[in-house]
Amino acid sequence: MATAAPTEKSGKVVIRNIGLLLSGDIDRPILDADTLVIKDGLIVAVGKEADCDTAQAQTVIDARRTCVAPGLIDSHVHPVFGDWTPRQNQTGWIDSTMNGGVTTMISAGEVHLPGRPKDIVGLKALAITAQRAFDNFRPGGVKVLAGAPIIEKGMVEQDFKDLADAGVTLLGEVGLGSVKAGYEAQEMVRWARKYGIQSTIHTGGPSIPGSGLIDKDVVLEADADVIGHINGGHTALSEAHVCELCEKSSRAIEIVHNGNEKVAIAAAQAALALKCPHRVILGTDGPAGSGVQPLGMLRMVALLSSLGGIPAELVFCFATGNTARLRNLNCGLIEVGRAADFVFMDKAQHSAGRDLLDSIALGDIPGVGMVMIDGIVRCGRSRNTPPATEVPVVLSAAH
Ligand SMILES: [Zn+2]
Repeated sequence: MATAAPTEKSGKVVIRNIGLLLSGDIDRPILDADTLVIKDGLIVAVGKEADCDTAQAQTVIDARRTCVAPGLIDSHVHPVFGDWTPRQNQTGWIDSTMNGGVTTMISAGEVHLPGRPKDIVGLKALAITAQRAFDNFRPGGVKVLAGAPIIEKGMVEQDFKDLADAGVTLLGEVGLGSVKAGYEAQEMVRWARKYGIQSTIHTGGPSIPGSGLIDKDVVLEADADVIGHINGGHTALSEAHVCELCEKSSRAIEIVHNGNEKVAIAAAQAALALKCPHRVILGTDGPAGSGVQPLGMLRMVALLSSLGGIPAELVFCFATGNTARLRNLNCGLIEVGRAADFVFMDKAQHSAGRDLLDSIALGDIPGVGMVMIDGIVRCGRSRNTPPATEVPVVLSAAH
């Protein structure tokens, strides 16, 4: 299992000969640039090669005219510990997902832990432990933002302060614990927000036996920061209710792979019609009953682009920059000062598409040729995607 110490430094890295640079910025999804310069894990220049200081790089990568995009951010995962999931008893799922272009994952609760504590001191201890453990351990280099407690009846404002003081920044899906009424959830979501903890609410029918229904009125009343899996996980609310949520709430619209695909498309299209595409973010909701999907994020991009008729370059922003902005992450956008977390892609071999974006519009999954996190190459040609037509090459050090 490939593990990266979070302290590893990339030095100076130059990526040249980029054929298509996707920015992650929904207002300007394609950049007119062919070169990126990185220093110690952060982007220091974006532009044309002649305008960039490319001298004395430790690593030079020839992108061979392939596409570079910000690494994908999975807004909704359920990790437990390490690179193991008890939900499907699988190891290596995070490293495998990195091979699907994902560089950051956000926990919506460590709910699959066998014997998960539901008493208040226990749930707080679990969240703090999960936050610490994933802060110290990055399977495949992936940044797993974990430690997302499932709120239970009886929690008081001091509990949220304690969690925030201990480094917890997320709430697990509201509704998975005993707090299911809108008014109760609203009070706890407000306490969380007051102390800088971002919240997500489960939306739709029960995911597995033992979980429950959260309808549109509860979602609106709770007013969590993220309308978690608005397309259900799996069972969705009616399309009319989902569209009502998009319209009446101003919160993030999260669409997941392990949800209702028809409603996924309806929600994305509703957001575009309401002129708030910046609110749409993508996740997998894996691992789940449907399994582990290393290509789940790429499959969502292909689904929304092909069947939803949304240009692929915009859908990539749902999976990168939108999430980064809504969740205050230092990744997801190609900008000076941001983390050098990238996925290199090309159209899959023998796709009917003319180029990468056209192949995705036709419903094909792109081929991943390389993944970089913090300026460090984490994989070359993906072991999971269909083979990319062209892949980047690491040239010998130039110093
Ligand atoms: Zn859920």
